[in-house]
Amino acid sequence: MITIKGLSKSFGELSVLENINTEIKEGEVISIIGPSGCGKSTFLRCINLLETPTTGEISVDGQNILAKNADVSGLRQKMGMVFQSFNLFSHLMIIENLMLGPVNLLKIPKQQAYDEGMRFLEMVGLKSKVYAFPDELSGGQKQRAAIARTLAMKPQIVLFDEPTSALDPTMVSEVLGVIRKLASNGLTMMIVTHEMKFARDVSSRVFYMDEKGIYEEGSPEQIFDHPQKTKTRAFIKKIS
Ligand code: ADP
Ligand code: MG
Repeated sequence: MITIKGLSKSFGELSVLENINTEIKEGEVISIIGPSGCGKSTFLRCINLLETPTTGEISVDGQNILAKNADVSGLRQKMGMVFQSFNLFSHLMIIENLMLGPVNLLKIPKQQAYDEGMRFLEMVGLKSKVYAFPDELSGGQKQRAAIARTLAMKPQIVLFDEPTSALDPTMVSEVLGVIRKLASNGLTMMIVTHEMKFARDVSSRVFYMDEKGIYEEGSPEQIFDHPQKTKTRAFIKKIS
């Protein structure tokens, strides 16, 4: 689904990512772990074109998204992104937050967008908050609403950047529960997370990022139980 070749990203003099090569297949759930500042967010933001890579190629469904004539808005619709901070529109009700993209960008009729929005809110356990405003929701509820809003755009892949890091500890599991459900439904996802038990359970592959790239990757068992390289071992030892 996504092929990444020779991806590098610098901010001025600061080189953050160097020569990343990987492929993400349909239905994979990839957890991205690694020390703070190693470039995890930058990597996701390059894939979603929130940052422009300095060099390299990213193909989605065989289309090079960095080509001059690439359909960037079409691409953004294929990829959903869920952030640490929920980014809901505070002046809109939850259902209106969910309908906005489908109606304005996908040109879906309002009634259909409403019906589909209701289904996604039900899926994330927020049927009772359909007509609430974001400020009336807890952090965990806001993040579940933000996930439902992302799903309402029917993305082929969803990128999560530390979706539970801004949450009160009591609310982490309700959000991880929703992501687990999406994984069991077969949604393709890349998830930057510090929740190691979750990463172990939910992932098909784990990327450990360090030294400006994917330093080591493997199954959850390989990375968490039998890391091969020095820095991966040190990281896993420190967090377990
Ligand atoms: P992580 O998500 O792994 O914590 P980031 O991708 O956020 O790491 O950041 C990697 C490095 O890039 C850090 O040194 C950070 O300060 C730097 N960085 C990230 N975004 C920018 C930016 N827009 N401008 C300059 N430096 C940036
Ligand atoms: Mg980050």
